[in-house]
Amino acid sequence: MPTLDSNIEYLKGVGPQRAEVLKKELGIFTCRDLLFHFPFRYIDRTKFHKIRDIHTEGELVQIRGTLRRLETLGEGRARRLVGSLRDETGMMELVWFQAVQWLEKSLTVGKEYIVFGRVNEFNGRFNITHPEMESLTPDPSSTGEELGVRQLTFDPVYPSTDKLTQKGLDAKGLRKIIRTLLDGLSPTDLPETMPDYLTAQYKLTSRWSALNKIHFPENQQELDVATRRLKFEELFFLQLRLLQIRTRRKDAIRGFVFSKIGDFFNKFYHEKLPFELTGAQKRVLKEIRADLAVGKQMNRLVQGDVGSGKTVVALMTMLMALDNGFQAVLMAPTEILAQQHFANITELVGDLGIRVGFLSGTVKGKKREAILQQLASGELHIVVGTHALIEDWVQFNNLGISIIDEQHRFGVEQRAALWKKNPAGPPHVLVMTATPIPRTLAMTLYGDLDVSVIDELPPGRKPITTMHKSEHHRLRVQGFMRDEIAKGRQVYVVYPMIEETETMDLQNLMSGYEALSRDFPPPQYQISIVHGKMKAADKDFEMQRFVRGETQIMVATTVIEVGVNVPNASVMVIENAERFGLSQLHQLRGRVGRGAEQSFCILMTSFKLSADGRERIQTMCQTNDGFVIAETDLRLRGPGNIEGTQQSGMLRFLIADLARDGQILTAAREIALRILEDDPALAAPEHERLRQHLASEGKEARVWSRIS
Ligand code: ADP
Ligand code: MG
Repeated sequence: MPTLDSNIEYLKGVGPQRAEVLKKELGIFTCRDLLFHFPFRYIDRTKFHKIRDIHTEGELVQIRGTLRRLETLGEGRARRLVGSLRDETGMMELVWFQAVQWLEKSLTVGKEYIVFGRVNEFNGRFNITHPEMESLTPDPSSTGEELGVRQLTFDPVYPSTDKLTQKGLDAKGLRKIIRTLLDGLSPTDLPETMPDYLTAQYKLTSRWSALNKIHFPENQQELDVATRRLKFEELFFLQLRLLQIRTRRKDAIRGFVFSKIGDFFNKFYHEKLPFELTGAQKRVLKEIRADLAVGKQMNRLVQGDVGSGKTVVALMTMLMALDNGFQAVLMAPTEILAQQHFANITELVGDLGIRVGFLSGTVKGKKREAILQQLASGELHIVVGTHALIEDWVQFNNLGISIIDEQHRFGVEQRAALWKKNPAGPPHVLVMTATPIPRTLAMTLYGDLDVSVIDELPPGRKPITTMHKSEHHRLRVQGFMRDEIAKGRQVYVVYPMIEETETMDLQNLMSGYEALSRDFPPPQYQISIVHGKMKAADKDFEMQRFVRGETQIMVATTVIEVGVNVPNASVMVIENAERFGLSQLHQLRGRVGRGAEQSFCILMTSFKLSADGRERIQTMCQTNDGFVIAETDLRLRGPGNIEGTQQSGMLRFLIADLARDGQILTAAREIALRILEDDPALAAPEHERLRQHLASEGKEARVWSRIS
């Protein structure tokens, strides 16, 4: 008998040819891989349907009844065998187009059958085409066993492919070899991975039982028990691994101690800060402050919706570094955003005697040299800039903290590059993101970081009013734009731009721009236009005109999505809104509602919308809460498609589903945290299994890397 690590080829019923296809098509190399090829659904054949209750086309049903009639109808291609099945509640028509002759011979009118198949609607009536038929009064030649099994099974259905089906490995074929595999295993082959106290406390079934029942449950309840155990296990070990990374890093990497809050911070707080901090801002600053005082490197993510006031949190964090004699850097993903941060911060700190510099690709020659020299000498306290900051020739005197805005735009390597800028050791790292991520995703993607959430907007913000309009409202929408402009406000009009349909999208944008230029003619109106095909300098010029209020309308693609702050802009019109993802729509909407005025977001769509498209638009009209929107996005698109997560192999789960298993995940993380707090090295005897499983891990996870 092969072991779990044997080549799949040696499992009875597989052989070299099937093994080849299993490897190619499903990434199944070993018996273990096969064991972890879980069913994606099950057919419940433990129950019988009553004919009267069958109303849904496409439903799989099992009926027990008597065959009342059987006749061949039609000629040639239309030739078919038609039967009628009766149970105590009604009559159902059965139809076969193939093997007509053979079926006619083997079925007997008057006999009782178990009929299984998919419900079809034809001319307003239900029938079942090509049902499987099993006689309830078995003929003497059959063993009768077949029937006994059939009646009460809960059949697994496995992902398969055409090539596998050709080799006899359709859902049924796979079922058979997995049965063979499980029959050859014993509980010692699948030892428990979790301590007994955990399985007892959380009422988790054994690993052995779970792996058997996930393939061959006898009913829904057994399946639920197995599923829960396996989901828990998958999420628990992932969290344990992530939290171990975090713990180890904290132990290994020393961080500068910012022991005091000094003049810069205090003066800013008492004399310069133009508003009261929100409760959430204060809480997050406390969390950061606690990290910075203990001598371990901070790795913290601050999540906050657009407009929640992350900039001032970043600034005050930098002031903590300055008060302890260190420099600070703030890096943003685009030139315009970096410039805004620079302007903002320069204004906020006023005459406190803080020297703030700016560095990006556009800073050249003497100016650049001066900045570099002042950074290296320690003369500059704060530098704000773009990724030009991570170039080799940028050196700091004593960098204490790196803050990265809109972190999902930067790669991990770029983040890490900022660590190496300092002769005295790695700075603290704070990353900020304005793309709210559902909690479950954050716990996974950033499971090794500490996460703070600014979940409160500054007071007095008027929620943005969002409306859904279609083409025949266009005149009214234009009238509305005109009214707002007359009040002195500015308007964004955004078009989708997707790589695959770029040429058409660009045409769309240009004709939209021309139409607007006719409807809003100069000199009364001025329009800016910005898109990805323009030179950086031209883009910047157009943006600046809008920022300075010289143009009233900004026609753009999503390049304006990130960070641009024009408080006077109060209307955001999004064309073809159905083509944007939810988080993108939310980001775009966040460009307005930054000033004191009531702001509006108008979603223009065509008449026809897909169900998903409609739900996206409705969600936008109903809520301004980025976290609610992110949860909906996760539910609609699945975790792999959420912005900023595409490259993450971490989100491929065998059985867990982040969109649905939030509760299990939260529990798993809490338990993992508690265990590591008590026993960071998992050295206690009762944690022996955990340690061993972590050490042997990868065996199961590897299946995925082979496929991709
Ligand atoms: P984001 O989180 O999107 O980066 P910003 O930091 O740009 O948000 O802040 C948005 C606006 O809110 C700015 O004009 C900022 O000055 C203002 N702001 C931030 N915190 C507060 C507060 N506690 N009270 C009032 N206004 C605030
Ligand atoms: Mg910001």
